[in-house]
Amino acid sequence: MKRIYLHKAKAQIARPNTIRDINKQIVLTYVRDRAPISRAEIARQTELQRSTVSAIVDDLHLDGLIEEIGTGDSTGGRKPTLLKLRTGIPVAIGVDITPRYTTIALADLAGQVLKENTFPTSPDADYMSEQIIKGVEKHVLDNKKHHLEVGISVPGVADQATGRVRYIPYFQWSNWEISRQITTKTSLPVTIDNDANAIALAELWFGDEVNRRDKNFITVLVAEGVGTGIVFDGQVYRGERGAAGEFGHMIVGENAPTLCSCGSRNCWEAHSSEKAIVARYQNQIKNRQPADEDINVEQLINLANNGEKEAVEALKETAKYIGIGISNLIIGFSPQAVVVSGRVVRAWDLIKDEIEFLAGRSVRQGLPHTVIRASSLGDFPTLKGSLSLVLARKFASAN
Ligand SMILES: [Zn+2]
Repeated sequence: MKRIYLHKAKAQIARPNTIRDINKQIVLTYVRDRAPISRAEIARQTELQRSTVSAIVDDLHLDGLIEEIGTGDSTGGRKPTLLKLRTGIPVAIGVDITPRYTTIALADLAGQVLKENTFPTSPDADYMSEQIIKGVEKHVLDNKKHHLEVGISVPGVADQATGRVRYIPYFQWSNWEISRQITTKTSLPVTIDNDANAIALAELWFGDEVNRRDKNFITVLVAEGVGTGIVFDGQVYRGERGAAGEFGHMIVGENAPTLCSCGSRNCWEAHSSEKAIVARYQNQIKNRQPADEDINVEQLINLANNGEKEAVEALKETAKYIGIGISNLIIGFSPQAVVVSGRVVRAWDLIKDEIEFLAGRSVRQGLPHTVIRASSLGDFPTLKGSLSLVLARKFASAN
């Protein structure tokens, strides 16, 4: 076998099956992305040998990861058997913790949600541990035959290596041991990550195919807070102890209409979050009778999409600040794309010009244009994030 990375020879030698493992992941990803597909077609597209592909497909079939779904058209000889990912079988439990709600969902290998339930997030960490463990245990009891794994997305700093949540600013929880608690109770493997990092992974996993092609992009989640995920060369960059990407706290101006989760009025989050959108709207309508004080961001986006002037203004003003932050990210990272997710994306036509205008003002003569696009992950990107934590692991360990 030809050894490619001589300077990394030690690491390569440590795992004699490395090339075969990589090939297995390649085949599985081909089946996932291009199903229904035959062994011959995989071999043709990947330039792997037919016999190699056949052996790998047999392994994946045995592991229950793929299934055969009839035959395709013959190109001369025997009709080829078509393959697809095995769906409908529960493999992942996603736990999506947001400042307001927590969702626990059961999903298959394609990330399709088979069952889910949502409850209000409590500021009491011990109570939340109990509720989450109860929810996970229920899925374990209902699916005794299946090998499940858990992925957790949290709105704070989480260390994937130790499984520990270092800090959640909304509730001031530190060193929350939810991963260890779940594993102790259920023996299931748990992967935990910050919500924005989980979204970055979900963009690679469930997002537009262009994300997998671009490989260098930044995700910006506009929600209760503002978070960013950094993807370098197709990998999520997490930094020391998972603390990278906290750009929500970069200073973009003073006197924001609301407080950042850290308490400051200068942070990007204080100027650009859903809370900032609502606060700007409330400022605009404060003299209106009767005052509609309790509007939530979903209602506000609907109003804006129906043309209500104040709602449109609140969104456009916030979009300027989203654009300022993105402009700074582009200057610092020069990514191929910036992908914006969260409910604001529903009003993309109203906000994209402001975002692009502000982001485009940065000095980048002669450098390629960074595309700013709306995420296709939908209204619950962090739930998809929690599931992709498991799926990415499943695919990576399919060797
Ligand atoms: Zn802050």
